[in-house]
This record gives sequence, C-alpha cells and structure tokens, in this order.
Amino acid sequence: MAGRNFLFVPGPTNIPDRVMRAMMVSMEDHRSPAFPALTREIMPGLKKVFRTEHGTPFVFPSSGTGCWEAAVTNTLSPGDRVLAARFGQFSHLWIDMCTRMGLDVQIVECEWGTGVPLQQYADILKADTEHSIKAVLACHNETATGVTSDISGVREALDEAKHPALLFVDGVSSLGSIDFRFDDWGVDMAVSGSQKGLMLPAGLGILCASPKALEMRHSAQLKRAYFDLNDMINANATGYFPYTPALSLMYGLVESLHMIEEEGLDNIIARHHYLAEGVRAAVTKGWGLKLCAKEAKWYSDTVSAVMLPEGINGAEVIARAFNRYNVSLGAGLSKVAGKLFRIGHLGDMNEVHLMAAIAGAEMAMLDCGIKVTPGSGTAAAGEYWRHHSAPSGLIARDTHKHSKETHGTHSLSGPAVVKG
Ligand SMILES: *Cc1c(COP(=O)(O)O)cnc(C)c1O
Repeated sequence: MAGRNFLFVPGPTNIPDRVMRAMMVSMEDHRSPAFPALTREIMPGLKKVFRTEHGTPFVFPSSGTGCWEAAVTNTLSPGDRVLAARFGQFSHLWIDMCTRMGLDVQIVECEWGTGVPLQQYADILKADTEHSIKAVLACHNETATGVTSDISGVREALDEAKHPALLFVDGVSSLGSIDFRFDDWGVDMAVSGSQKGLMLPAGLGILCASPKALEMRHSAQLKRAYFDLNDMINANATGYFPYTPALSLMYGLVESLHMIEEEGLDNIIARHHYLAEGVRAAVTKGWGLKLCAKEAKWYSDTVSAVMLPEGINGAEVIARAFNRYNVSLGAGLSKVAGKLFRIGHLGDMNEVHLMAAIAGAEMAMLDCGIKVTPGSGTAAAGEYWRHHSAPSGLIARDTHKHSKETHGTHSLSGPAVVKG
C-alpha cells in the first residue's frame, strides 16, 4: 500500500524520527560500568515531566497496566478499602484489577462522558471519619471517552476532610501532554506508560511514588514479586535494574525527554490544547456532532471521542477509514462500543498532520451514510487554527542548529548512540 498509515489511535502514538533513530542501538551489557549513566540521564528528566522534586520515578519493562499493579501492591493489604469512580473503560479496568487483588473497592458509578465526581468524593471522604479508605483512585484522562478530570480538586477533597488516604492517579494518557503536577496535587502514586505522550513504543511502565507511598511498602501485605519496588529501589540506587531493562526503549526515552525539554512542557501542554480545540471545532461546528464528554470542563486535550448518530455502527466508520483511506481511528470500547470513534491528538502532532484524521474520518463517515457536509470538518478546524496564535512548538525555526547543540550537551558517556 502506497503512502503512510495515519495513526490516530490515542496510543500507541506517532514516534518522532529522532526517537526512532535513537532506539537503533546495539545491545550492551546492562551490568557494565557504563550503564548507570543511562539511568542517571533518564530519572531527572522524568521528574521534570511529573513536575516533582520529592517523588521517585520508576521505569518497568511493562506496559502502563503493570504500574497500576505496582502502585497497588506496594502500598496496600488484602481487604483494604479504596475509593474509585467508574466512567470509562480505563477507570473500569483499574477497579477490576483492585478487585482481583482482593481489595474492597468502593465504586462510584458515573455517567460515561463525565469524570471524577468531586462532590461525591468529598462527601464520602468526610463521612469516613475512621479513615477506613486507604487509597483514592483517579483516572486523570479517561482515554475511552475523552474526559479529563480535576486532580487538584481530588486533593482538595482529601485535605478538606483531613483524610490521610493515598492519592493514586492514572496519568497514562495525560503525562507529557496535559498539565500534570505530582507535587502540587499531592499525588502519591502516578502511573504512566511509554506509548502515549512520551512518543515511544509500548513497553515501559512509568511510575512516580511519593515518600509517603514508598513508606507503605514496609507494611503493605499484598503479594508482589516482579513489581516489588524494593528490588527496584535497591538496584536503581547504583544505576542498575533488578532484571534486564528494555535498553532500546530507554535510549528512545532519553531522546524523547530531550525533545520535551527543548519544546518546554508548558509549550507542549499549550500545543495539545490548541490542537484539541481545532479537532473539537471540526466535530461540533463543522460536522454538527457531539463529543462523548458531556461538558466543556471535561474536554480532553489528548483524545476526542466523537458520538455518531443513532443507527450508525462506529465500527464500520473505523473499518472504512482504515481499509479505504489508511487512517487509524480509535474504536469505542465496552459500553460505548459502536457508538463513537476516537481521534487521538497527542504526542508528535501538528495541525496539518491532524487534518488527515479529520479529512479521513469525514470521508469515511460520508461513505457510511452519515450526512456531514463535505469539507466542513477541515474548514472548521482550519478556521480555528488560522485565527489563534500557534504555540511555539509549531513555529518553524532553525531546528537543525538547535538539535545539534542539544546533542552536544547531552551526549551519553555510555556506548555510542545513533542520533539525528
Ligand atoms: C493506555 C491506557 C492505559 C493502559 O496502558 P497499557 O500501556 O495499555 O497497559 C491505562 N490507563 C489509561 C488512561 C490509558 O490511556
């Protein structure tokens, strides 16, 4: 098939060429004296992305789901009560894991398209005067519905109730794309992965733990082995890993952290908002369709879930986009299967790239009998982008010179890395 596949699933995301090249390395001895330099290059960069001074980042050879398990098993004991809200497939899966781990999950059922219910969380925490709730779970960005929740609001609910429960946040599809503040929000365990905002292949589970959360590992009784933070802490202290690290991905991570540093986290967050606003203009103003997110306060800047008219099967639109136009859109999951399609707009992305998603989705919808006006989506997105000033990451400059300088200052002392 000629031309590229246009990838707009909300993870895995597009990998920048620079990151791709950085991962083309020969294997090396992960017990060599040179290896710790790689670990020491990654950890401070991750702390910046989590916006933490006192948190400790961990890198597991796993997907993000592994870090859900690490967060839970290193802090809690069988039968412990945790508070969680279910409003999409990912918040559901974390609850499911907690249940399977033998925790007592107090589930707040919410309409899909909404997010963490702050008032209910506040009421439940206030009423729990005996502090039987040991952890509060919050899915920061529900990737299944395109909903972002207010994590600082969850922290406020905990503080107002003077409740000591740990705060666990799923930031898999928000870290490095949507504002995430580990320290300011008093997050205790933040879970992420490599294949979304960090622009890498899947394969790294990324976790950040507060001192309070780390302290819990001494009393936590849940069974753990592979994901035991003790083993990681001991090995990481000297720059090594308790088992074979995913070397290529770690070299890719060094490069993606360089890219994040160069563009600037605030600029990246602004870029994601600006791009998302263009997509939302296409969906609502152009096509006249609705987003799954019920209100503007829930709108996600990394993924938009587009509701389809009654009687239309979203799977057909997605299949048509893929088979005919080589555009990969995200499917509706579980409760919303068939009812929507998703456009992932996170990671390495700009306006014209995103136009491919809008144009491809529009053609596929027309082919499937949905009466949107041809050209209306790209027109509305274009109007938004043309009339709003672009974040600095989208403005052309002397990138060649810039990237050369960066490579000079960040060169690894370990084995040679192939870099752009
Ligand atoms: C992708 C995703 C996950 C799962 O991560 P895996 O890397 O697939 O294990 C969890 N939570 C959210 C919000 C996600 O978007």
